[in-house]
Amino acid sequence: MTEETTEPGGRAQLKCDWCGWPFTPPKATGRMPRYCRRSCRQRAYEARQTQEAVAAAVLRRTKGQPPVRSAVPAGAELEGAESLPLF
Ligand SMILES: [Zn+2]
Repeated sequence: MTEETTEPGGRAQLKCDWCGWPFTPPKATGRMPRYCRRSCRQRAYEARQTQEAVAAAVLRRTKGQPPVRSAVPAGAELEGAESLPLF
């Protein structure tokens, strides 16, 4: 009887790695999901990708290689664009 109810704290209750929301996995067996919903998983995935990209860029710079062009801060680009004459 208690097996069928999906009460919080009953069986395996997980906490979302992204938003921290407690949730019950749809299946008791198999791989345990880390996020309560797809959007959370997507956000966490994107954040990880960004972190890896930044880490890779830092690693490149510490290795002594020339910095990537896209590493120029947005403010510098804006300043340059503002000084250009308008048509
Ligand atoms: Zn979540």
